[in-house]
Amino acid sequence: MLRVAVVGSGPSGCYTAQGLVQQHPGVRVDVLDRLPCPYGLVRYGVAPDHEKIKSLQNSLRAVLEHDRVRFLGAVPVGPGGVPAARLRELYHAVVYCVGAATDRRLGIPGEDLPGSWSATDFVSWYSAHPDAPGRAPDGSPADGGFLRGVRSAVVIGVGNVAVDVTRMLARRAAELTRTDVPHSALTALAASTVTEIHMVGRRGPSQARFTTKELRELTTLPDTAVAVDAAELARDPASADPSALPPAQRRNVEVLRGWAAAPAPRARRVIRLRFYLRPVELLARDGRVAGVRWERTVPDGRGGVTGTGRYEDVGAQLVLRSVGYRGLPLDGLPFDPASGTVPHRAGRVLRDGTVAPGEYVAGWIKRGPTGVIGTNRPCAKETVMSLLADAPALGHRDLPGDPLAALRADGVDPVPWTGWRAIERAEAALGASLGRDVVKLPDWDSLLAAARSAGP
Ligand code: NAP
Repeated sequence: MLRVAVVGSGPSGCYTAQGLVQQHPGVRVDVLDRLPCPYGLVRYGVAPDHEKIKSLQNSLRAVLEHDRVRFLGAVPVGPGGVPAARLRELYHAVVYCVGAATDRRLGIPGEDLPGSWSATDFVSWYSAHPDAPGRAPDGSPADGGFLRGVRSAVVIGVGNVAVDVTRMLARRAAELTRTDVPHSALTALAASTVTEIHMVGRRGPSQARFTTKELRELTTLPDTAVAVDAAELARDPASADPSALPPAQRRNVEVLRGWAAAPAPRARRVIRLRFYLRPVELLARDGRVAGVRWERTVPDGRGGVTGTGRYEDVGAQLVLRSVGYRGLPLDGLPFDPASGTVPHRAGRVLRDGTVAPGEYVAGWIKRGPTGVIGTNRPCAKETVMSLLADAPALGHRDLPGDPLAALRADGVDPVPWTGWRAIERAEAALGASLGRDVVKLPDWDSLLAAARSAGP
Protein backbone atom coordinates (compact mmCIF):
# COMPACT_ATOMS: atom_id res chain seq x y z
CA MET A 1 0.00 0.00 0.00
CA LEU A 2 1.39 3.38 -1.05
CA ARG A 3 0.73 6.09 1.54
CA VAL A 4 0.59 9.68 0.32
CA ALA A 5 0.06 12.92 2.24
CA VAL A 6 -1.54 15.78 0.35
CA VAL A 7 -0.99 19.06 2.18
CA GLY A 8 -3.90 21.40 1.50
CA SER A 9 -7.54 20.52 0.83
CA GLY A 10 -8.36 23.23 -1.72
CA PRO A 11 -9.14 22.37 -5.35
CA SER A 12 -5.56 21.38 -6.23
CA GLY A 13 -5.26 19.13 -3.15
CA CYS A 14 -8.63 17.48 -3.80
CA TYR A 15 -7.92 16.98 -7.52
CA THR A 16 -4.55 15.45 -6.60
CA ALA A 17 -6.16 13.06 -4.11
CA GLN A 18 -8.81 12.18 -6.68
CA GLY A 19 -6.24 11.48 -9.39
CA LEU A 20 -4.21 9.27 -7.07
CA VAL A 21 -7.07 7.04 -5.93
CA GLN A 22 -8.57 6.86 -9.42
CA GLN A 23 -5.29 5.90 -11.09
CA HIS A 24 -3.86 3.56 -8.45
CA PRO A 25 -5.89 0.92 -6.59
CA GLY A 26 -3.18 0.50 -3.95
CA VAL A 27 -2.83 4.06 -2.71
CA ARG A 28 -4.15 5.64 0.49
CA VAL A 29 -4.23 9.40 0.75
CA ASP A 30 -4.37 11.61 3.83
CA VAL A 31 -5.41 15.17 2.97
CA LEU A 32 -4.04 17.50 5.63
CA ASP A 33 -5.21 21.06 6.14
CA ARG A 34 -4.11 23.65 8.68
CA LEU A 35 -7.78 24.68 9.03
CA PRO A 36 -10.43 22.44 10.57
CA CYS A 37 -12.50 22.93 7.39
CA PRO A 38 -11.78 21.56 3.91
CA TYR A 39 -11.99 23.11 0.40
CA GLY A 40 -9.44 25.97 0.69
CA LEU A 41 -10.32 28.88 -1.58
CA VAL A 42 -13.62 27.32 -2.62
CA ARG A 43 -14.80 27.86 0.97
CA TYR A 44 -12.68 30.91 1.83
CA GLY A 45 -12.07 32.68 -1.49
CA VAL A 46 -14.98 32.19 -3.89
CA ALA A 47 -17.43 35.03 -3.23
CA PRO A 48 -20.59 33.98 -1.36
CA ASP A 49 -22.84 35.20 -4.18
CA HIS A 50 -21.10 32.87 -6.66
CA GLU A 51 -23.26 30.00 -5.55
CA LYS A 52 -22.68 27.88 -8.63
CA ILE A 53 -18.90 27.88 -8.16
CA LYS A 54 -19.39 27.33 -4.41
CA SER A 55 -21.41 24.22 -5.21
CA LEU A 56 -18.14 22.69 -6.43
CA GLN A 57 -17.77 21.76 -2.77
CA ASN A 58 -20.13 18.88 -3.51
CA SER A 59 -17.73 17.25 -5.95
CA LEU A 60 -14.73 17.98 -3.69
CA ARG A 61 -16.70 16.39 -0.83
CA ALA A 62 -17.03 13.18 -2.83
CA VAL A 63 -13.22 13.06 -3.13
CA LEU A 64 -12.68 13.55 0.60
CA GLU A 65 -15.30 10.90 1.39
CA HIS A 66 -13.63 8.28 -0.85
CA ASP A 67 -12.86 5.19 1.19
CA ARG A 68 -9.13 5.47 0.52
CA VAL A 69 -8.99 9.22 1.30
CA ARG A 70 -8.89 10.61 4.84
CA PHE A 71 -9.31 14.29 5.74
CA LEU A 72 -7.19 15.48 8.68
CA GLY A 73 -8.00 19.08 9.57
CA ALA A 74 -6.28 21.50 11.97
CA VAL A 75 -2.87 20.02 11.10
CA PRO A 76 -0.41 22.81 10.38
CA VAL A 77 2.71 21.76 8.48
CA GLY A 78 5.87 23.75 9.14
CA PRO A 79 6.96 25.85 12.13
CA GLY A 80 4.83 25.14 15.21
CA GLY A 81 3.23 22.19 13.42
CA VAL A 82 4.36 18.99 11.74
CA PRO A 83 7.83 19.45 10.20
CA ALA A 84 8.08 18.61 6.50
CA ALA A 85 10.80 16.07 7.37
CA ARG A 86 8.39 14.26 9.74
CA LEU A 87 5.83 13.94 6.95
CA ARG A 88 8.46 12.35 4.76
CA GLU A 89 9.04 9.73 7.50
CA LEU A 90 5.33 8.97 7.86
CA TYR A 91 4.42 8.79 4.15
CA HIS A 92 5.98 7.39 0.98
CA ALA A 93 5.26 10.68 -0.77
CA VAL A 94 4.06 14.17 0.13
CA VAL A 95 2.29 16.52 -2.31
CA TYR A 96 2.22 20.17 -1.29
CA CYS A 97 -0.92 21.94 -2.52
CA VAL A 98 -0.69 24.91 -0.17
CA GLY A 99 -1.64 27.65 -2.65
CA ALA A 100 -0.36 31.21 -2.57
CA ALA A 101 -0.89 32.18 1.03
CA THR A 102 -0.37 35.92 1.00
CA ASP A 103 -1.19 39.02 -1.01
CA ARG A 104 1.19 41.16 -3.00
CA ARG A 105 1.96 44.66 -1.78
CA LEU A 106 2.20 47.94 -3.66
CA GLY A 107 5.29 49.30 -1.92
CA ILE A 108 4.02 52.89 -1.96
CA PRO A 109 3.70 55.47 0.84
CA GLY A 110 0.52 55.24 2.90
CA GLU A 111 -0.12 51.56 2.17
CA ASP A 112 -0.41 50.75 5.89
CA LEU A 113 -2.78 53.59 6.79
CA PRO A 114 -5.97 52.62 8.62
CA GLY A 115 -8.61 52.10 5.97
CA SER A 116 -6.12 50.54 3.52
CA TRP A 117 -6.42 46.76 3.29
CA SER A 118 -5.54 43.95 0.98
CA ALA A 119 -8.45 42.51 -0.98
CA THR A 120 -7.52 39.23 0.73
CA ASP A 121 -8.37 40.78 4.12
CA PHE A 122 -11.75 41.85 2.81
CA VAL A 123 -12.40 38.47 1.17
CA SER A 124 -11.42 36.69 4.41
CA TRP A 125 -13.83 38.90 6.33
CA TYR A 126 -16.88 38.22 4.18
CA SER A 127 -15.87 34.54 3.85
CA ALA A 128 -15.65 34.08 7.67
CA HIS A 129 -12.03 32.92 7.51
CA PRO A 130 -10.95 32.27 11.11
CA ASP A 131 -7.73 34.24 10.50
CA ALA A 132 -9.57 37.28 9.07
CA PRO A 133 -8.31 40.42 10.74
CA GLY A 134 -10.34 40.75 13.94
CA ARG A 135 -9.46 44.34 14.61
CA ALA A 136 -8.90 47.30 12.37
CA PRO A 137 -5.54 49.06 12.86
CA ASP A 138 -7.39 51.84 14.72
CA GLY A 139 -8.66 49.29 17.24
CA SER A 140 -12.25 49.29 15.98
CA PRO A 141 -13.80 45.93 15.17
CA ALA A 142 -13.13 44.85 11.60
CA ASP A 143 -16.83 44.10 11.28
CA GLY A 144 -17.97 47.44 10.01
CA GLY A 145 -14.41 48.73 10.38
CA PHE A 146 -14.00 48.07 6.67
CA LEU A 147 -17.15 49.97 5.79
CA ARG A 148 -17.87 52.40 8.60
CA GLY A 149 -18.10 55.95 7.29
CA VAL A 150 -17.11 54.89 3.77
CA ARG A 151 -18.80 56.71 0.90
CA SER A 152 -16.12 56.15 -1.72
CA ALA A 153 -13.98 53.02 -2.07
CA VAL A 154 -11.02 52.39 -4.37
CA VAL A 155 -10.08 48.92 -5.59
CA ILE A 156 -6.56 48.83 -7.06
CA GLY A 157 -6.15 46.22 -9.81
CA VAL A 158 -8.39 44.81 -12.54
CA GLY A 159 -8.29 41.04 -12.02
CA ASN A 160 -11.14 38.73 -11.01
CA VAL A 161 -10.49 39.28 -7.30
CA ALA A 162 -10.89 43.04 -7.88
CA VAL A 163 -14.22 42.33 -9.59
CA ASP A 164 -15.29 40.10 -6.67
CA VAL A 165 -14.57 42.73 -4.00
CA THR A 166 -16.07 45.52 -6.13
CA ARG A 167 -19.25 43.49 -6.56
CA MET A 168 -19.43 42.64 -2.85
CA LEU A 169 -18.97 46.32 -1.97
CA ALA A 170 -21.92 47.15 -4.22
CA ARG A 171 -24.16 44.35 -2.91
CA ARG A 172 -27.01 45.10 -0.56
CA ALA A 173 -27.43 42.85 2.47
CA ALA A 174 -30.83 41.61 1.24
CA GLU A 175 -29.12 40.00 -1.77
CA LEU A 176 -26.81 38.01 0.51
CA THR A 177 -29.11 36.71 3.26
CA ARG A 178 -29.52 33.41 1.42
CA THR A 179 -25.74 32.91 1.20
CA ASP A 180 -23.42 31.63 3.96
CA VAL A 181 -21.87 35.08 4.55
CA PRO A 182 -21.20 35.54 8.31
CA HIS A 183 -23.88 37.42 10.14
CA SER A 184 -21.64 40.25 11.34
CA ALA A 185 -20.56 40.96 7.74
CA LEU A 186 -24.18 40.95 6.65
CA THR A 187 -25.02 43.47 9.37
CA ALA A 188 -22.13 45.70 8.32
CA LEU A 189 -23.16 45.49 4.66
CA ALA A 190 -26.73 46.39 5.64
CA ALA A 191 -25.40 49.58 7.22
CA SER A 192 -23.04 50.34 4.30
CA THR A 193 -22.99 53.94 3.07
CA VAL A 194 -20.82 53.18 0.02
CA THR A 195 -22.08 55.02 -3.06
CA GLU A 196 -19.00 55.05 -5.29
CA ILE A 197 -16.51 52.28 -6.07
CA HIS A 198 -13.53 52.98 -8.31
CA MET A 199 -11.87 49.90 -9.82
CA VAL A 200 -8.61 51.00 -11.36
CA GLY A 201 -6.07 49.44 -13.74
CA ARG A 202 -2.55 50.73 -14.33
CA ARG A 203 -2.63 49.51 -17.93
CA GLY A 204 -5.38 49.58 -20.56
CA PRO A 205 -8.67 47.74 -21.00
CA SER A 206 -7.13 45.22 -23.39
CA GLN A 207 -4.65 44.21 -20.67
CA ALA A 208 -7.22 43.81 -17.89
CA ARG A 209 -7.04 40.40 -16.24
CA PHE A 210 -10.72 39.94 -15.40
CA THR A 211 -12.78 37.51 -17.44
CA THR A 212 -15.75 38.77 -19.46
CA LYS A 213 -18.35 36.73 -17.57
CA GLU A 214 -17.23 38.29 -14.26
CA LEU A 215 -17.03 41.76 -15.84
CA ARG A 216 -20.55 41.53 -17.27
CA GLU A 217 -21.94 40.52 -13.89
CA LEU A 218 -21.26 44.05 -12.62
CA THR A 219 -24.19 45.38 -14.63
CA THR A 220 -26.57 42.85 -13.09
CA LEU A 221 -26.34 44.39 -9.61
CA PRO A 222 -29.55 46.06 -8.44
CA ASP A 223 -29.53 49.85 -8.20
CA THR A 224 -25.89 50.03 -9.35
CA ALA A 225 -24.59 51.74 -12.48
CA VAL A 226 -21.28 51.02 -14.21
CA ALA A 227 -19.44 53.97 -15.72
CA VAL A 228 -16.56 53.70 -18.19
CA ASP A 229 -14.63 56.76 -19.37
CA ALA A 230 -14.73 56.76 -23.19
CA ALA A 231 -11.58 58.92 -23.38
CA GLU A 232 -9.59 56.43 -21.27
CA LEU A 233 -10.85 53.58 -23.39
CA ALA A 234 -9.82 55.38 -26.57
CA ARG A 235 -6.25 55.64 -25.26
CA ASP A 236 -5.91 51.87 -25.71
CA PRO A 237 -4.56 51.30 -29.25
CA ALA A 238 -6.64 48.10 -29.43
CA SER A 239 -9.92 49.74 -28.52
CA ALA A 240 -10.78 51.17 -31.96
CA ASP A 241 -10.41 47.76 -33.58
CA PRO A 242 -10.12 44.91 -31.05
CA SER A 243 -10.46 42.18 -33.73
CA ALA A 244 -6.76 41.26 -33.57
CA LEU A 245 -6.84 40.68 -29.79
CA PRO A 246 -7.02 37.18 -28.30
CA PRO A 247 -10.72 36.25 -27.79
CA ALA A 248 -10.83 36.86 -24.01
CA GLN A 249 -9.35 40.36 -24.31
CA ARG A 250 -11.43 41.17 -27.38
CA ARG A 251 -14.65 40.34 -25.51
CA ASN A 252 -13.60 42.52 -22.56
CA VAL A 253 -12.89 45.49 -24.82
CA GLU A 254 -16.18 45.02 -26.70
CA VAL A 255 -18.16 44.97 -23.45
CA LEU A 256 -16.34 48.05 -22.13
CA ARG A 257 -16.86 49.90 -25.42
CA GLY A 258 -20.58 49.19 -25.18
CA TRP A 259 -20.73 50.55 -21.64
CA ALA A 260 -18.70 53.65 -22.52
CA ALA A 261 -21.06 54.42 -25.40
CA ALA A 262 -24.18 54.25 -23.22
CA PRO A 263 -24.61 56.86 -20.48
CA ALA A 264 -24.60 55.19 -17.03
CA PRO A 265 -28.19 55.07 -15.70
CA ARG A 266 -29.00 56.91 -12.48
CA ALA A 267 -28.57 54.56 -9.54
CA ARG A 268 -27.86 54.59 -5.82
CA ARG A 269 -24.36 53.26 -6.38
CA VAL A 270 -21.89 53.68 -9.20
CA ILE A 271 -18.92 51.51 -10.13
CA ARG A 272 -16.35 53.53 -12.04
CA LEU A 273 -13.96 51.46 -14.16
CA ARG A 274 -10.77 53.45 -14.67
CA PHE A 275 -7.64 52.68 -16.70
CA TYR A 276 -4.12 54.04 -17.24
CA LEU A 277 -3.72 55.17 -13.64
CA ARG A 278 -0.81 53.89 -11.55
CA PRO A 279 -1.03 54.31 -7.76
CA VAL A 280 1.84 56.38 -6.34
CA GLU A 281 0.64 57.23 -2.83
CA LEU A 282 -2.23 56.68 -0.43
CA LEU A 283 -3.33 60.03 0.95
CA ALA A 284 -4.15 60.59 4.64
CA ARG A 285 -6.49 62.79 6.62
CA ASP A 286 -6.78 62.63 10.42
CA GLY A 287 -4.53 59.54 10.43
CA ARG A 288 -6.75 57.51 8.08
CA VAL A 289 -6.74 56.90 4.37
CA ALA A 290 -8.50 59.69 2.49
CA GLY A 291 -7.70 58.89 -1.11
CA VAL A 292 -5.23 57.66 -3.70
CA ARG A 293 -2.84 59.73 -5.79
CA TRP A 294 -2.35 58.27 -9.27
CA GLU A 295 0.07 58.98 -12.03
CA ARG A 296 -1.57 58.93 -15.42
CA THR A 297 0.11 56.43 -17.75
CA VAL A 298 0.22 55.90 -21.50
CA PRO A 299 0.79 52.71 -23.49
CA ASP A 300 4.43 52.10 -24.38
CA GLY A 301 3.63 50.08 -27.49
CA ARG A 302 4.97 46.84 -25.98
CA GLY A 303 2.00 45.99 -23.73
CA GLY A 304 3.36 48.05 -20.85
CA VAL A 305 2.89 51.66 -19.81
CA THR A 306 5.03 54.68 -19.02
CA GLY A 307 4.29 57.48 -16.59
CA THR A 308 3.34 60.92 -17.89
CA GLY A 309 4.24 63.00 -14.81
CA ARG A 310 0.59 64.07 -14.59
CA TYR A 311 -1.28 63.15 -11.43
CA GLU A 312 -4.86 62.73 -10.29
CA ASP A 313 -6.28 62.30 -6.78
CA VAL A 314 -9.36 60.17 -6.09
CA GLY A 315 -10.96 60.55 -2.67
CA ALA A 316 -11.71 57.31 -0.77
CA GLN A 317 -12.25 56.24 2.81
CA LEU A 318 -11.50 52.61 1.96
CA VAL A 319 -8.73 51.31 -0.30
CA LEU A 320 -8.44 47.63 -1.21
CA ARG A 321 -5.32 46.58 -3.07
CA SER A 322 -6.14 43.65 -5.31
CA VAL A 323 -2.85 43.15 -7.08
CA GLY A 324 -2.49 39.38 -6.91
CA TYR A 325 -1.51 36.66 -4.48
CA ARG A 326 1.96 35.39 -3.62
CA GLY A 327 3.23 32.00 -2.48
CA LEU A 328 5.05 31.82 0.85
CA PRO A 329 8.14 29.69 1.50
CA LEU A 330 7.34 26.49 3.35
CA ASP A 331 9.85 25.48 6.01
CA GLY A 332 11.89 22.53 4.77
CA LEU A 333 11.07 23.04 1.06
CA PRO A 334 13.05 24.92 -1.61
CA PHE A 335 11.51 28.18 -2.79
CA ASP A 336 12.01 30.58 -5.68
CA PRO A 337 11.38 34.05 -4.23
CA ALA A 338 11.14 35.63 -7.69
CA SER A 339 8.08 33.60 -8.71
CA GLY A 340 6.80 32.75 -5.21
CA THR A 341 6.72 29.06 -6.16
CA VAL A 342 8.53 25.81 -5.33
CA PRO A 343 10.95 24.80 -8.11
CA HIS A 344 9.73 21.59 -9.76
CA ARG A 345 9.91 19.41 -12.83
CA ALA A 346 6.46 18.14 -13.87
CA GLY A 347 5.41 18.43 -10.22
CA ARG A 348 8.53 16.78 -8.74
CA VAL A 349 10.20 19.14 -6.24
CA LEU A 350 13.71 20.16 -7.27
CA ARG A 351 16.40 20.74 -4.67
CA ASP A 352 19.39 22.53 -6.21
CA GLY A 353 18.14 21.42 -9.62
CA THR A 354 17.86 17.76 -8.62
CA VAL A 355 14.61 15.85 -8.08
CA ALA A 356 13.89 15.33 -4.36
CA PRO A 357 12.42 11.81 -4.19
CA GLY A 358 8.94 11.63 -2.69
CA GLU A 359 8.22 15.39 -2.70
CA TYR A 360 5.73 16.97 -5.10
CA VAL A 361 3.76 20.16 -5.66
CA ALA A 362 0.48 21.04 -7.38
CA GLY A 363 -1.67 24.15 -7.73
CA TRP A 364 -0.63 27.75 -7.13
CA ILE A 365 2.53 26.86 -5.15
CA LYS A 366 3.63 24.97 -8.29
CA ARG A 367 2.63 27.33 -11.11
CA GLY A 368 1.87 30.67 -9.40
CA PRO A 369 -1.51 32.30 -8.67
CA THR A 370 -3.08 32.05 -12.12
CA GLY A 371 -6.04 30.42 -13.78
CA VAL A 372 -9.51 29.47 -12.62
CA ILE A 373 -10.42 26.53 -10.38
CA GLY A 374 -10.60 24.14 -13.34
CA THR A 375 -6.97 24.97 -14.24
CA ASN A 376 -6.00 22.91 -11.19
CA ARG A 377 -7.25 19.71 -12.76
CA PRO A 378 -4.57 19.31 -15.48
CA CYS A 379 -2.00 20.78 -13.08
CA ALA A 380 -2.80 18.11 -10.46
CA LYS A 381 -2.94 15.42 -13.14
CA GLU A 382 0.62 16.12 -14.24
CA THR A 383 1.85 15.82 -10.64
CA VAL A 384 -0.15 12.61 -10.07
CA MET A 385 1.39 11.07 -13.20
CA SER A 386 4.89 11.93 -11.99
CA LEU A 387 4.21 10.50 -8.54
CA LEU A 388 2.70 7.28 -9.84
CA ALA A 389 5.62 6.84 -12.25
CA ASP A 390 7.91 7.06 -9.20
CA ALA A 391 5.67 4.86 -7.04
CA PRO A 392 7.57 1.57 -7.53
CA ALA A 393 10.74 3.15 -6.14
CA LEU A 394 8.96 5.08 -3.37
CA GLY A 395 6.76 2.24 -2.09
CA HIS A 396 9.69 0.03 -1.00
CA ARG A 397 10.33 1.97 2.17
CA ASP A 398 8.77 0.54 5.38
CA LEU A 399 6.70 3.12 7.22
CA PRO A 400 6.32 3.36 11.00
CA GLY A 401 2.60 2.41 10.82
CA ASP A 402 -0.62 4.40 10.51
CA PRO A 403 0.44 8.05 10.16
CA LEU A 404 -2.59 9.18 12.17
CA ALA A 405 -1.46 7.23 15.23
CA ALA A 406 2.05 8.65 14.81
CA LEU A 407 0.71 12.22 14.48
CA ARG A 408 -1.37 11.76 17.64
CA ALA A 409 1.68 10.38 19.46
CA ASP A 410 3.51 13.53 18.36
CA GLY A 411 0.81 15.61 20.12
CA VAL A 412 -1.13 16.58 16.98
CA ASP A 413 -4.91 16.33 17.36
CA PRO A 414 -6.39 16.34 13.85
CA VAL A 415 -10.03 17.18 13.15
CA PRO A 416 -11.34 14.11 11.31
CA TRP A 417 -14.09 14.12 8.67
CA THR A 418 -16.69 13.52 11.41
CA GLY A 419 -15.44 16.73 13.06
CA TRP A 420 -15.95 18.64 9.82
CA ARG A 421 -19.46 17.18 9.51
CA ALA A 422 -20.13 18.45 13.06
CA ILE A 423 -19.00 21.94 11.94
CA GLU A 424 -21.46 21.70 9.05
CA ARG A 425 -24.26 20.81 11.48
CA ALA A 426 -23.31 23.69 13.77
CA GLU A 427 -23.37 26.10 10.80
CA ALA A 428 -26.80 24.83 9.78
CA ALA A 429 -28.02 25.28 13.37
CA LEU A 430 -26.58 28.80 13.52
CA GLY A 431 -28.33 29.65 10.25
CA ALA A 432 -31.64 28.26 11.53
CA SER A 433 -31.35 30.31 14.73
CA LEU A 434 -30.92 33.44 12.58
CA GLY A 435 -33.72 32.58 10.19
CA ARG A 436 -31.19 31.95 7.42
CA ASP A 437 -29.76 28.92 5.64
CA VAL A 438 -26.25 27.78 6.55
CA VAL A 439 -24.21 30.57 8.21
CA LYS A 440 -20.46 30.12 8.61
CA LEU A 441 -18.79 30.03 12.01
CA PRO A 442 -16.23 32.86 11.86
CA ASP A 443 -13.61 32.00 14.50
CA TRP A 444 -11.27 29.26 15.61
CA ASP A 445 -12.92 28.71 19.01
CA SER A 446 -16.39 28.03 17.62
CA LEU A 447 -15.05 25.90 14.75
CA LEU A 448 -12.92 23.74 17.05
CA ALA A 449 -15.67 23.48 19.70
CA ALA A 450 -18.08 22.23 17.03
CA ALA A 451 -15.49 19.84 15.56
CA ARG A 452 -14.51 18.38 18.95
CA SER A 453 -18.16 17.84 19.89
CA ALA A 454 -18.07 14.91 17.44
CA GLY A 455 -15.40 13.10 19.47
CA PRO A 456 -12.01 11.86 18.18
P1 NAP B 1 -4.53 38.87 -11.26
O1 NAP B 1 -5.49 38.25 -12.19
O2 NAP B 1 -3.09 38.56 -11.42
O3 NAP B 1 -4.74 40.48 -11.33
C1 NAP B 1 -3.91 41.34 -10.61
C2 NAP B 1 -4.18 42.77 -11.02
O4 NAP B 1 -3.36 43.62 -10.22
C3 NAP B 1 -3.81 43.09 -12.48
O5 NAP B 1 -4.77 43.99 -12.98
C4 NAP B 1 -2.44 43.76 -12.32
O6 NAP B 1 -2.13 44.66 -13.35
C5 NAP B 1 -2.66 44.54 -11.06
N1 NAP B 1 -1.41 44.94 -10.42
C6 NAP B 1 -0.36 44.16 -10.05
N2 NAP B 1 0.59 44.90 -9.46
C7 NAP B 1 0.12 46.18 -9.44
C8 NAP B 1 0.64 47.40 -8.97
N3 NAP B 1 1.82 47.46 -8.35
N4 NAP B 1 -0.11 48.52 -9.12
C9 NAP B 1 -1.31 48.47 -9.72
N5 NAP B 1 -1.86 47.33 -10.21
C10 NAP B 1 -1.15 46.20 -10.06
O7 NAP B 1 -4.84 38.49 -9.73
P2 NAP B 1 -6.20 38.24 -8.93
O8 NAP B 1 -7.29 39.15 -9.34
O9 NAP B 1 -5.76 38.23 -7.50
O10 NAP B 1 -6.62 36.77 -9.34
C11 NAP B 1 -5.77 35.63 -9.07
C12 NAP B 1 -6.28 34.42 -9.86
O11 NAP B 1 -7.52 33.97 -9.31
C13 NAP B 1 -6.55 34.75 -11.32
O12 NAP B 1 -6.14 33.68 -12.11
C14 NAP B 1 -8.06 34.92 -11.35
O13 NAP B 1 -8.65 34.70 -12.61
C15 NAP B 1 -8.49 33.88 -10.34
N6 NAP B 1 -9.83 34.21 -9.81
C16 NAP B 1 -10.90 33.77 -10.54
C17 NAP B 1 -12.18 34.09 -10.13
C18 NAP B 1 -13.35 33.61 -10.94
O14 NAP B 1 -13.17 32.78 -11.82
N7 NAP B 1 -14.55 34.11 -10.70
C19 NAP B 1 -12.39 34.88 -9.01
C20 NAP B 1 -11.28 35.33 -8.28
C21 NAP B 1 -10.00 34.99 -8.71
P3 NAP B 1 -1.02 44.25 -14.48
O15 NAP B 1 -1.75 43.30 -15.38
O16 NAP B 1 -0.69 45.56 -15.09
O17 NAP B 1 0.12 43.60 -13.75
